[in-house]
Amino acid sequence: MRILVIEDEKKVASFIKRGLMEELYAVDVAHDGEAGLQMARENDYDCIILDVMLPHKDGFTFVQEFRGTGNTTPVLMLTARGTTQDRVTGLDLGADDYLPKPFHFEELAARVRSLLRRSSTEKSTVLRCGDLTLDTVTHRAYRNDKEIELTTKEYSLLEYLMRNKDRVLSRSLITQHVWSYSFDTESNIIDVYIKRLRKKIGDDDDPRLIQSVRGVGYTMREPREKDVE
Ligand code: CA
Repeated sequence: MRILVIEDEKKVASFIKRGLMEELYAVDVAHDGEAGLQMARENDYDCIILDVMLPHKDGFTFVQEFRGTGNTTPVLMLTARGTTQDRVTGLDLGADDYLPKPFHFEELAARVRSLLRRSSTEKSTVLRCGDLTLDTVTHRAYRNDKEIELTTKEYSLLEYLMRNKDRVLSRSLITQHVWSYSFDTESNIIDVYIKRLRKKIGDDDDPRLIQSVRGVGYTMREPREKDVE
């Protein structure tokens, strides 16, 4: 899952970025509202963390213009403590949640997980597909109760596939949601990672959990009974 952090205080921005990367998200950072809005329009983020007081374009104007284009990406606003009016304004303009500064990173991470669940059909912190489970709090994956060791990117890829079960995902969509800004989309890295992931989760028998869709990309499917009488 890929997150955009819009925060002008460099220290705070890098603290949030580091924490989110440890939670295995792909993270981009913008230091003002104008640059943030441009990035948010160019890329398909899964969640946006937005400071209110920003140069060039403040958080309220950002959320108003962003929602004005019909974009439904979840937005978590970082507000100053004790300013009820700011929180009300932010929520009314289309923010999904707010977190007063200063905050503990664990709370920010929990709110991000909650926002990601809202836009997904899966409401639990544990994602499932057949006998494969992925715990999004502990970042552990299991197949048949046996733990699977995954690298950061393998985990991110599996999380994205499992959150979008039954959707056909193009390679460019997968790239958008699993890798951050600097990534070269021309490479065949998605196929390389899918191959490694299939090997790790033991996905070699048809029908596979991760299925190839010719000419498009991949989809994760629940195994179905072959003959239902
Ligand atoms: Ca600020």
